[in-house]
Amino acid sequence: MKFGGTSVKDVEALRRVVQVVGRERRPRLVVVSALSKVTDALLEVARLAEQGDGTAARQAVKALHRRHEEMAAIVRGTERRAGLLAAIDALFEELEGVARALAVVEEVSPRSKDAIVSFGELASSRIVAAALEDAGLASRWLDARALLVTDAQHGAALPDREATDERLRSLVRPLLADGLVPVVGGFVGATAAGLTTTLGRGGSDLSAALFGAGLEADEIQIWTDVDGMLTADPRMVAAPRVVPQLSFDEASELAYFGAKVLHPATILPAVGLGIPVRILNSHRPEAPGTLITRTVEAGEGGPAAIACKRGLTRIDIASTRMLMAYGFLRRVFEVFERFRTPVDVVTTSEVSVSVTIDDRRSLEGIESELSAFADVSHEDGMAIVCAVGERLRTDARLATRVLGALEGLPLAMVSQGGSRKNITVVLRDADAPAAMERLHRRFFEDEGAPSERSALATA
Ligand code: ADP
Ligand code: ASP
Ligand code: MG
Repeated sequence: MKFGGTSVKDVEALRRVVQVVGRERRPRLVVVSALSKVTDALLEVARLAEQGDGTAARQAVKALHRRHEEMAAIVRGTERRAGLLAAIDALFEELEGVARALAVVEEVSPRSKDAIVSFGELASSRIVAAALEDAGLASRWLDARALLVTDAQHGAALPDREATDERLRSLVRPLLADGLVPVVGGFVGATAAGLTTTLGRGGSDLSAALFGAGLEADEIQIWTDVDGMLTADPRMVAAPRVVPQLSFDEASELAYFGAKVLHPATILPAVGLGIPVRILNSHRPEAPGTLITRTVEAGEGGPAAIACKRGLTRIDIASTRMLMAYGFLRRVFEVFERFRTPVDVVTTSEVSVSVTIDDRRSLEGIESELSAFADVSHEDGMAIVCAVGERLRTDARLATRVLGALEGLPLAMVSQGGSRKNITVVLRDADAPAAMERLHRRFFEDEGAPSERSALATA
């Protein structure tokens, strides 16, 4: 059971978490994110330290300290509350020391930054463990750094599944067997040598999925602040509906192309063992949510959902040799590999390739290497809009209808992935909201064209 930042943002939210965990009767591991906005605040602490502004960094730590202290009000037992407050004090005093030291040297390495942001999950998980215990649920706090083993890519560490499974066997299974509820922070891990790492933003979902898979769980529950996977990002579309069921493939593509409710790698650990993933609303625990399984009935209707990823750069690469000789694509993608820059959408014609990237940090280097054998140009301010669903594979008319709904909007790229389960367009970022609205109206709102797989969201 994974609870996101908004699910633990204040005492009231925390009470709901305690209820939800209490109501579940099966053995369960609880994974928690940092309190809402805390990871951003910790990154700000790191930024201030890097600028050498020790005073501001310490003030920011103090504010975080106070916010976490206030959460201790959920614990009624005097002794237990004192114990929790002592743990919180110790954590934030340590953080203050780290921030002060880094501000003196005015340097924050990726390794130090991970050490700083890890305090969010370390603190929130302590609070949740104490709250559960106080409500009469025998629980046990676990240090995520002892459980999740990763490589040393700070800020975007890759999990070591085997080593993590081993830790789950020795540290978690015995607690579950004894009827205890272990509580651990998400997002945070450590290298085999014990250096603190993090999985990248939104990574608590991935922690939960890794733990769920390692424990061979019945299901992985992602508790958040919306009723499930919605037909579109609620910040872009006025009345999205809940999608009751999705396949692993559909959910992965939606997450990858911008549905923030799931970290893009979340589904992966569940796939091998076929463990169902459920997205549920901690504010409305009675809502059925979204169930994600290996296969779903494609059924009638249109796409399952639409998604949008904004602020991208398109790179056009034209072979200077006139002919798209074999080997050209390899050379192109080797450049992206060397710069460790993932490519999202790719389209090709006879003599040119277009790709989109999210991570612009190595753009200059990439362009200069590509220039050795191609004409290269790029355009910032692009967005991906995509429609995803098993139906796209079986109903050839759907792709036409998707493009039809976008008529008049200039499309820079159009692609249908190898799975044929999505149709993806790249357009100007400024046109993305209109594209999302039009697609949503066409497939989820228009009279006579409701997707049979979605129900109106009520939250
Ligand atoms: P948590 O803190 O629980 O991990 P997140 O903020 O990471 O929550 O993810 C939930 C948010 O994802 C929702 O509040 C919503 O604004 C956003 N979101 C974007 N696209 C979708 C979608 N297709 N379905 C549901 N939520 C979405
Ligand atoms: N707290 C981390 C973040 O805000 C991880 C997570 O919430 O999933 O990105
Ligand atoms: Mg999240």
